[in-house]
Formats: sequence, structure tokens, C-alpha cells
Amino acid sequence: MTFDSLGLEPRLLESVAALGYEAPTPIQEQAIPHVLAGTDVVGCAQTGTGKTAAFVLPTLQRIPNDRVVRALVVTPTRELAVQVGEVAMEASRATGHHVAVIHGGVGYDPQFKKLRKGVELVVATPGRLLDMHERKEVDLRQVEVLVLDEADRMLDMGFWPDVRRIIGLLPEDRQTLLFSATMSSDVTRVVRSALRDPVQVETSPSATPVENVDQALYPVSEMQKNRLLAELLVQKDFDRVLVFTRTKERADRVARVLEKQGVSCAAIHGDRKQAHRQRALDDFKEGRTRVLVATDVVARGIDVEEISHVINFDMPNGPEDYVHRIGRTARAGASGDAISFVTAQDMDVLRDVERMLDYVISTEDLEGFDYDKRLIPDPDREARPKARPVFSGGVMGRGRGRTRIMRR
Ligand code: AMP
Repeated sequence: MTFDSLGLEPRLLESVAALGYEAPTPIQEQAIPHVLAGTDVVGCAQTGTGKTAAFVLPTLQRIPNDRVVRALVVTPTRELAVQVGEVAMEASRATGHHVAVIHGGVGYDPQFKKLRKGVELVVATPGRLLDMHERKEVDLRQVEVLVLDEADRMLDMGFWPDVRRIIGLLPEDRQTLLFSATMSSDVTRVVRSALRDPVQVETSPSATPVENVDQALYPVSEMQKNRLLAELLVQKDFDRVLVFTRTKERADRVARVLEKQGVSCAAIHGDRKQAHRQRALDDFKEGRTRVLVATDVVARGIDVEEISHVINFDMPNGPEDYVHRIGRTARAGASGDAISFVTAQDMDVLRDVERMLDYVISTEDLEGFDYDKRLIPDPDREARPKARPVFSGGVMGRGRGRTRIMRR
């Protein structure tokens, strides 16, 4: 399959070349023809699947170059807005479109300037976009294509009332594309209210990042987590590591502990200024820091290639977050590792994760580590049939040591 055969015009094929893509990913293959045809699309896809280009490329093909806002992408986080904006800017060099990225946490002036010059594509987080609209800096009445990116996350973060207000500012006669990693009943309700006869496209199971991730559990007591992490990072040759904690405070604390051990690292979370977050991300992307400690909200959608390891210092609240987290590694077909520290308190969430993945995660110990008393999950526990059709097609392979999901 080639991008050419999906119906993209020559100038968009130039964009594809500028982005460095050779062949479309499954979500691109499925979504692009529908988007070009003007149909509403629901895409069930995580980050890492190529979903951004799946909506950016055909959207640019559909809108004129007239410095009027014709397409709007709404994202839950600043980082995701920046990332989508980067793809859109790279892609629009060949098409001559103009792109504005509008998000909070930074000054208004550059955003005013950009909007006043006239742009065809706006990528925005909900709050600042509404703010700009109230200030009469952005006119959304000519929007032809609306993209709701990471809709499940926007719902989780309580942005839906804002998004609904934004939708109310747009023409009814428009095309709407909605992307979501999960299809909860809330998301389905949103689809019903905001989209018209959408086609649903899904990444094929083989494209789900979880398949390429080696997962392991490290049972440990809460008290020993810091030491275990520090020793793990000192002992093992992990390259670029994303560590997840439950709270901002814990992210800061873990970063401090690691720094004391001489591990180069930074913490990134919502309390940090945007400039600080961006710098931490850039340092990590460019390999100046080896470890990034993050909370779910900011980490979601971070597009850093070649993350070698994801470490769940704290297990997430639910299986969806687990999947998002481990999807940060093994992006675009690469393989990666995910290590989860589990304590006695995590057994319920572990059961939910394994049930959703239909997969039993193997247990490992760090050699030579002096473990306190801890709860070790039963190695013979069976994952029950999966309750949600999120990742179909995977069966659990149980070999020695690490297990991997194998395809049927
Ligand atoms: P996304 O899911 O949009 O966040 O994309 C994940 C990563 O895959 C990004 O680093 C993209 O640059 C990369 N990517 C997207 N589409 C392709 C493609 N067709 N070929 C190779 N890499 C791609």
C-alpha cells in the first residue's frame, strides 16, 4: 500500500516525503480515503499508530489556502497540541497552508500575531481557544473540518463542557473526525451527539503497541520502590526511560532521589511552567537526560521516539492508562520494555489490566536486590477472557521468563 493509492494529491505526497514516511500505517490506510471523501470518521487508535498524519494529511487536502480558519484540531494537552502542530507545519510546507497552535501556559502575543496574519488550520487546547474566541481573536464560523483528538482523555479531564461550547461555535455543516484510544460509553455518546453517520476505523491488532512491548512485574513493597528504581537504573543499561508516578509530588520526589544517585533525569507535570515542561521534554528527546518522570496527564501523547523503557513506579488507576503508558515505548513498530512495580495494593488493578489484555504478565526480580517482605502475584494466575473488545486478536504466549502477546 502506498500513500499515492489512498488518493492524496501530489503536494500532499510531498508532505509525506517531508515527514519521512514511506508507507501508510494501518490507521492511515483506513482513515485517509474516508476523510478525503468528506465522511465523518471515528478512529479507535492510540498514539504511536500514526493517527496524527491520518487526519492532518487529508484535512490539508480538503481545505483551501485562503487564510481563513477552515480546520480545527482540539487536543486535551498542550504537549499534544504542540506535537500535532509540528506535524501539521511540516506537512503544510508543501501545501502552503498556515498553522496556529493555541494553548495555555504561554504568552498571548505570539498567538495573537499568528492568528491575525490568518491561518487555515488551528490546533488548540479547549480553554485557551475559548479565551481567544471571547477576545474575538479567532473566528470559527468557516470551519469545515473539526478533529477531536484523544476524545477519551478530554472526557477524563473534564473538558467536555468546553468542547461542547467550541462545537457550538462551528457550522453544523462540517466534517468531524474523532480519535480515541478507547471507546467507552461516554465516548460513544459524544460520537452520537457530535458526528453524522461516521465510519469507524480501528487499528488492526497487529498495530497495537502492546504487542511489541515486553512486559514485566517487579513485586516490591511501597517502602522500597525508590531504592529499587535507583538500583535498577544504575545496574541496567536502560537508554531512555519514562517513569510514571501517581501524583506530581511523587514525580518530584522520585526525580530528586534519582538525581542523588547520579542518574540524569527530570520531572514533568502540570504544575511546571510550560517553558520548563518543554525544556525537560526537549532534553529527553535529544538524549541529554536519560530518565523522564511524569504523571499520566502530561505523558499522554508525548511523542518521543526510541523510549526504551516505561517504568510504572506506581501502577495506574485503570487498564486504559496502563495501555497508554506502555504505548509510549515500542512506537511505530519498534519494540520496547515495560516494567511495573507492584505492591499488595495493586492486585485489583493488575487483575483488571490482565483481564483487558487477556494476558498474564510475568514476574521478575532485580538480581542482588535485598527485598523486604512483599506480595508476589501468583505465577499461575490465569487471565480471564477479556471483558472489552479493545485489543482483539491477541493470545497470551507463556514461555520461560518474559511473556509476549502472540498473534493467533
Ligand atoms: P502518532 O500516532 O500520530 O503520534 O505517530 C507516532 C509516530 O509514528 C510519530 O513519531 C510519527 O512520526 C510516526 N509515523 C506516523 N506515520 C508514519 C508512517 N506512515 N511511517 C513511519 N512513521 C510514521
